Amino acid sequence: MSVRVRLAPSPTGTLHIGTARTAVFNWLFARNQGGTFVLRIEDTDTERSKAEFTDNILEGLKWLGLDWDEGPFFQSQRLDLYEKAVRELLDKGLAYCCYCTPEELEEMRAAQRAAKQAPRYDNRHRHLTDEQRAAYEAEGRTAVVRFKIDDDREIAWNDMVRDRVSWNTSDLGGDMAISRAAKPGEVGQPLYNLAVVVDDLDMKISHVIRGEDHIANTAKQILLYEAFGAAVPEFAHTPLILNEKGAKLSKRDGVTSVSDFQAKGYTAPAIANYMTLLGWSPADGEERFMLGDAAEQFSFDRVNKAGAKFDWDKLNWLNGQVLHELPVETLLPMLVPYWKEAGYRFDLDTDKPWLEAIAATIGPSLSVLSEAVEMSRPLMSDAIEMSEKAQGQLAMENVSEALKLSLEKSQAAKSFDVAAAKKAIKEVTKELGVKKGLVMKSLRAALTGELSGPDLIQSWVVLHQRGLAVERLQAAIG
Ligand code: GLU
Repeated sequence: MSVRVRLAPSPTGTLHIGTARTAVFNWLFARNQGGTFVLRIEDTDTERSKAEFTDNILEGLKWLGLDWDEGPFFQSQRLDLYEKAVRELLDKGLAYCCYCTPEELEEMRAAQRAAKQAPRYDNRHRHLTDEQRAAYEAEGRTAVVRFKIDDDREIAWNDMVRDRVSWNTSDLGGDMAISRAAKPGEVGQPLYNLAVVVDDLDMKISHVIRGEDHIANTAKQILLYEAFGAAVPEFAHTPLILNEKGAKLSKRDGVTSVSDFQAKGYTAPAIANYMTLLGWSPADGEERFMLGDAAEQFSFDRVNKAGAKFDWDKLNWLNGQVLHELPVETLLPMLVPYWKEAGYRFDLDTDKPWLEAIAATIGPSLSVLSEAVEMSRPLMSDAIEMSEKAQGQLAMENVSEALKLSLEKSQAAKSFDVAAAKKAIKEVTKELGVKKGLVMKSLRAALTGELSGPDLIQSWVVLHQRGLAVERLQAAIG
């Protein structure tokens, strides 16, 4: 059997991290099996679907390196297919028109709430007589089509992640609406469970890989496969992504879409790597890998059943690893937008060597690109603010002398580079009989106004070459 998988995002929002992770697992499985990855945009909800969200989803997938083999197909362009399927179910007597008004349904639900019952459709229009139907239509009522779901049947499947999963049909909420309200004789827009099954059949999807939150839908969809007399695909339900408190990752956690991560300065390889680790781990325990390498080893045997906790430290670590390996020519253009946004003034052409020196200085300390704003502030700004701690350092014994001597040595050097700066610090330490730590710490305080930051020696050199070190040292001495 040839493996065909699909990602079926609804363009009602930007590419959600959960959808991206589902995309990753589909992609890994497809590539591992030499299969086909299909992209289908589920845009039948015309009110909430937006072209800009489709663009965001496609761009996000491309950015992550998740190339698809077929599509994107748009459900909104396939409405005839769904209508035909709804009519087939009506003809077979497996579905019927339900004329309930929203008010009637709400009344029914309120009664269920009052009786502390689970909300469900009570199948009240399943056995309407022709007269009743005619009367509703004469009233001008529209009808949704409902698919019959009999109670007390066990639906079970062998899930690739969760092994045996079973669901009782009594817990599926009664007969299920499969199309929206439409005038008598017409079929309204299809609803999710119907459209998904029609498409998965039409697109010959062999394995449906999606989040665990779809398990109840899977039970409903299996009933639809049966109704169409079709074979049921394999299912893999991947664990939910949880926040640090163990609850489902949501908007409240701040960052939920791939573009949010992108804006914060996470790189595509780190996000793709981390998404993979959210639920899967390679047999060799290696945590850093490229998607292509993971695809070679990927199997659902190593996907966890339990929810995957989002671990910011691990993501930051992975992203830092990626950033630290970037050559300065690659890193610089990635930093420029953050610097511009922060309002730093520079000219990309004439200031290039200076900017590259800053990129090289802060690069090894970055874990997220957006950190570049604070990290490069003392290097990019003409003036610095002295933190209290830095002021405290400058007030310590021997500091003034150490800075004075350091300044003299930097000015005496023929060309002040990293080697010259190291030499100067060594000599000051020796000549004044003070600790190297004191000299370094004092220089940092004087030059950056802080007691921590990126590499001090490189920072000093960058500031010296930009003509900013001398005045800052003089100010600190004075
Ligand atoms: N459109 C559905 C969603 O975005 C697809 C679910 C599925 O993969 O079947 O959740």
